[in-house]
Amino acid sequence: MSDAPDVGELTPPNRTLMGPGPSDVHPRVLRAMSTPLVGHLDPSFIEVMNEVQELMRYTFRTDNKWTIPVSGTGSASMEAAIGNLVEPGDTMLVPTNGYFGGRMESMAERAGGEVVHVDAPWGEPLDSADVQDAFDEHQPDVFGFVHAETSTGVKQPSVPELTSIAHDHDALVVADTVTSLGGVELEADDWGIDVAYSGPQKCLSCPPGASPLTLNDRAMDKVLSREEPTRSWYLDLSLLEGYWGDDRSYHHTAPITNVYAIREALRLVAEEGIEERWARHRRVAGALKAGVEAMGLGLNPEDEYWLPSLNAVLVPDGVDAGAAIDYVLDHYDLEIAGGLGALAGDIFRVGCMGHSARPENVSFLLTALGEALEAQGADVDPEAGFAAMREALNQ
Ligand SMILES: *Cc1c(COP(=O)(O)O)cnc(C)c1O
Repeated sequence: MSDAPDVGELTPPNRTLMGPGPSDVHPRVLRAMSTPLVGHLDPSFIEVMNEVQELMRYTFRTDNKWTIPVSGTGSASMEAAIGNLVEPGDTMLVPTNGYFGGRMESMAERAGGEVVHVDAPWGEPLDSADVQDAFDEHQPDVFGFVHAETSTGVKQPSVPELTSIAHDHDALVVADTVTSLGGVELEADDWGIDVAYSGPQKCLSCPPGASPLTLNDRAMDKVLSREEPTRSWYLDLSLLEGYWGDDRSYHHTAPITNVYAIREALRLVAEEGIEERWARHRRVAGALKAGVEAMGLGLNPEDEYWLPSLNAVLVPDGVDAGAAIDYVLDHYDLEIAGGLGALAGDIFRVGCMGHSARPENVSFLLTALGEALEAQGADVDPEAGFAAMREALNQ
């Protein structure tokens, strides 16, 4: 056996997080995470569970009974949704216009589903007519779409149109709301979304660990009447029902601290008011957008599909995106990210989520990014960027 490793105390750098997630955690959430643990069946914790569910319904804009935090990151609530809803032999329609549609496909295949596609280029939303055609051609049982595509900075418009196409064909709709919940207008019930999953570390500004999921009765009926159990024991919603439903009996130990965290993060949403929170994201990210545009940079998606929580800023010609990202991290402790897949090297991904969606962060971002681009000789005008930012914030 080797000697005990000599590992020092943890001293992470003090970053400002404006990438695709995690976002900066609100100090009140960190404080909630340092409060004492109780057992996962403690009467006081049952009360916490009820409060989390109530706050989560408010944030999703739903009355769904089946609204729970799934233990794990956004991908866990995603796999809980797809793995439970898709039965072997079912067909799931998924989008090809970003990274996360691809992840939906992988999960649906592992659940034993047949996957069919509705195509759109990376950086564009789905077109309702294409969704209609795909339904007519394939008659899928489940339709998944990404409301806020973090890989491209595109917000899917006309969601109610898509869900009504699906319902006309008796299909269930699963929405990826990981980068929209708590930051961008989302009306789960009014828009006809049957299942929505999300994550805590994007617009909710909470550490990853307990991820929102909501299902309406129609979706839960399908889950509870499956012919064979879903392949994951851990994410089996018919078993999790025992813990989060009326019985409150043991399934697995809830990540107590993460449930405290999301409770506090959702309390912050309720205190601010969900509509006011959407408006803040639009205003602050709007100032970021105005600033980078006035500086001389473009945004990738058209204004109509602009996603306030994730700004896909075009990398100017001749600029090495990776070097600029390293520059802002090294000089400013500021995290932003580059493009993925079809957009690798072409965009910077600048998050403006939750606690990170504040005017001071926008000003900081413009300073750091402007300097990083000037260091590479790019033709940018940070002063014009600041002026446009201030004007947008003062509107
Ligand atoms: C981040 C993200 C996910 C996955 O969440 P993890 O917490 O990384 O597991 C899924 N979908 C979208 C749109 C995301 O942005």
